Amino acid sequence: MLYLIIVTGRCNLNCTYCGGSISNDIMPSEITYSLEDLFSFLERDSEASIAFYGGEPLLRTDLIEKIVQGTEVRHYILQTNGLLLHRLSDSVLKKLNTILVSVDGIKEVNDTYRGDVYDKVMENVNSIRRKFRGELIARMVATEKTDIFRDVSHLLNHFEYVHWQINAVWVEESFYRNFNGWIEKYKEGITRLVKFWVEKMETGVVVGIVPFLGVVSSFLGKKHPHPPCGSGDDSFTITTDGRVVACPVCADLEWNQAGDIWKGIIRKDFLDIQMCSHCRYFNICGGRCLFFSRERLWSREKMQAVCDATIHLIEEIKRQMPKIERLIERGVVEPCTLHYPEYRNTTEIIP
Ligand code: SF4
Ligand code: SF4
Repeated sequence: MLYLIIVTGRCNLNCTYCGGSISNDIMPSEITYSLEDLFSFLERDSEASIAFYGGEPLLRTDLIEKIVQGTEVRHYILQTNGLLLHRLSDSVLKKLNTILVSVDGIKEVNDTYRGDVYDKVMENVNSIRRKFRGELIARMVATEKTDIFRDVSHLLNHFEYVHWQINAVWVEESFYRNFNGWIEKYKEGITRLVKFWVEKMETGVVVGIVPFLGVVSSFLGKKHPHPPCGSGDDSFTITTDGRVVACPVCADLEWNQAGDIWKGIIRKDFLDIQMCSHCRYFNICGGRCLFFSRERLWSREKMQAVCDATIHLIEEIKRQMPKIERLIERGVVEPCTLHYPEYRNTTEIIP
């Protein structure tokens, strides 16, 4: 099981689609349980992995250090906005298997939504690349200024993998001047990106575009959880007050509560599959996201536009499957390079 540990609710940024630090009404800004209690909770799971999460987890490198020293788990993962990457000690860096950095693409797009941080984040990323041996993943928010082809291609110059999530439902519908128009352009960009990806594969190179790898893995028989990020299935989050929730981003919501580190995890169906009950893409899409399926905060028409974008991506990959299978048969591509993720690493697979 993957445990996302919110090591602080504080954040040193205030991005448009997130709003910065987690409110104290949702959880205390700092951890209120003892690390001994955390360690005994984790020791009960021989398959445990940990992802450091926030707020901005690197505001508490002291705590990360202690948790790494006090645990022996399968994988250590870090999600960060990248501004404080230089604070990571070499000993922690050596233990990390995956680092995910939030960056939205080219400087102009990133800095519109995240503030003037692109240069510093990329400087940190380029410097960490020289010594980090694990997987380095860019996590983008795809939103109105995003040109998905341009921004993903750009980030692939700096990161081994890129994944993204469409900025839907988290913000008011009015955030977009023309959501449906943007989605149409996004779909065109996906078509272009899939074409580029398969052309690269024909030369034996599997480019690390996470949603494409995730969907191809499904077509090749890999079973992803529902939702595909694993929240509430094989991934849970520990809040700063020791509660356990399924999804990290809505720790206050009733349906998301899943116990605590003292009494353990309560298993239940977190996903509301009503919305997906007639959808023939459910096996691949897995309901996309708990919050999306549960809260349905946007109009039906715009929720459908998000699903149409998902379906478009799945169909584009499906169209390429005969070619991809031929490349595997001919030995141009090793099937294991298409199976992603190798371990639960907080990537969301379906954008
Ligand atoms: S595309 Fe939409 S309706 Fe279909 S499974 Fe995914 S979230 Fe559910
Ligand atoms: S995809 Fe949805 S359910 Fe999964 S972690 Fe992200 S917000 Fe939570």
